[in-house]
Amino acid sequence: MTINPAIPFELPALFEGRHLINGAWMDSASGETFERRSPSHGHIVSRSALGQEAEAEAAIAAARTAFDSGVWSRASGKERATVLLKVADLIEQNVDRIALIETLESGKPISQSKGEVGGAADLWRYAASLARSTHGDSHNTLGADMMGVVLKEPIGVVSIITPWNFPFWILSQKLPFALAAGCTVVVKPSEMTPSTTLMLGELLVEAGLPAGVCNIVLGYGVPVGAVMSSHKAVDMVSFTGSTAVGKTISAAASGTLKKVALELGGKNPQVIFPDADLDAAADAVVFGVYFNVGQCCNSSSRIIVHEDIAQEFCDRVIALSRKVKFGDPLDPSTQVGAIVTAEHNAKIDTYVKQARASGATVALGGDRLTVEGLGDQFYQPTVITDVDPDMPIARDEVFGPVLSVMTFKTLDEAVALTNDSDYGLSAGVWSTDVHTCLEFARRAETGTVWTNTWMDGFPEVAFGGFKQSGQGREIGRYGFEEFLEVKSVVMRIGNTRSPWVPKD
Ligand code: NAD
Repeated sequence: MTINPAIPFELPALFEGRHLINGAWMDSASGETFERRSPSHGHIVSRSALGQEAEAEAAIAAARTAFDSGVWSRASGKERATVLLKVADLIEQNVDRIALIETLESGKPISQSKGEVGGAADLWRYAASLARSTHGDSHNTLGADMMGVVLKEPIGVVSIITPWNFPFWILSQKLPFALAAGCTVVVKPSEMTPSTTLMLGELLVEAGLPAGVCNIVLGYGVPVGAVMSSHKAVDMVSFTGSTAVGKTISAAASGTLKKVALELGGKNPQVIFPDADLDAAADAVVFGVYFNVGQCCNSSSRIIVHEDIAQEFCDRVIALSRKVKFGDPLDPSTQVGAIVTAEHNAKIDTYVKQARASGATVALGGDRLTVEGLGDQFYQPTVITDVDPDMPIARDEVFGPVLSVMTFKTLDEAVALTNDSDYGLSAGVWSTDVHTCLEFARRAETGTVWTNTWMDGFPEVAFGGFKQSGQGREIGRYGFEEFLEVKSVVMRIGNTRSPWVPKD
């Protein structure tokens, strides 16, 4: 079936998802399944095996056995890199197929899905380079007869739990790095977007990853994610998702003191100084708030603009917002697609209505949007001014295409507003004065500061949050090191040790 003659896509057949456990694709013991309906087109995209404790336990056991066997954990960096590079090639060969399912399950535009899936190949290639350059350090200044080496070893079995907003990309920020380190893994994708993780699983098998090294269990946070977070045989949990669930996972992991790396929510500001290139800044603000319909941890949902240029800047942002193409995610020219669920759309709307009732001005949008032929699971591009920093719209992660505008007079005020948040994921500063940019960058309490740009990311550059935006880092060498344990080996050369027990 073709959806619309103007759109060159055949709908794929129903995607039937099974768990990947110890190299075999399997249904749940209960035979139960769950379905994912397209948020934009309304049809059922996938039907997946519904995992329970038993499937999570089996996957963890498979990962543990594979780790302890050494088939991957003691393989050479070259062997690991060879598999990761093969996966990167396979991803590139399958971009269109994977991107189509990603768009149908998530509601994001097809052009964005293609960028996300194709771009992920670079993460796999970069991780492959790290697999061959893992190293600790050595100490030869401990005395003439002593030497110490500090080794980096894989941490062990890693549970990877991912969200629905960038299912393929976020998995690729974790999985290749864990595999490069020599870990074995159990992955649980979001119940809303399970299928592209399975497609990646197929590529891993094709690339020759040994059985049990990467296992995938489908299902809900409870029970599957909960077992993965608390199980004794798991050494680390790498989670991306909401701050609330991150706290639950951290508590569950504390029972065995396993390592936890958390990539959580954000309430990210872009700060605009009067000397900024206002055209470029307005474009970045519009990109920052509408990309993925604002359902993005890095969404720049707060704008902090100098009061002298606030009106002019808002006018530019509103004019650009009107030009952004919202619509059918399968249309290659669409820039902004559907909201992930009707419930989430209602939640966005409640935030906007509440802000209006509290005295904020809805300068653009402010309501649900109906796209002809596709229903009302869309939201209008929305700009809200006269926002008080204490309003929920200025403090909470709304996760929709909604911009809250606040103003400042001095750099101190801009920094204070930026840091007046429980979150600390990212911030942006726009100014042509290098001193302003550097001072802001030094004082912002965020894991990333973009200066005169927004959301540029590179596999080499670590990503993560301050405060309640997370702990640990992802990608780059720092992200890779999260999956490594440090072991010190101290050696004596020759029989020079003074006896502790005096000799007779
Ligand atoms: P979510 O927290 O609801 O779910 C994320 C994953 O956790 C899903 O797989 C879910 O099934 C699982 N889960 C739910 N309850 C669980 C439990 N008790 N134990 C274990 N696992 C459980 O998040 P979401 O709605 O899928 O994603 C949106 C959130 O993710 C936003 O807050 C966003 O900011 C955040 N996010 C952060 C980053 C980052 O890098 N910082 C990136 C993308 C998304």
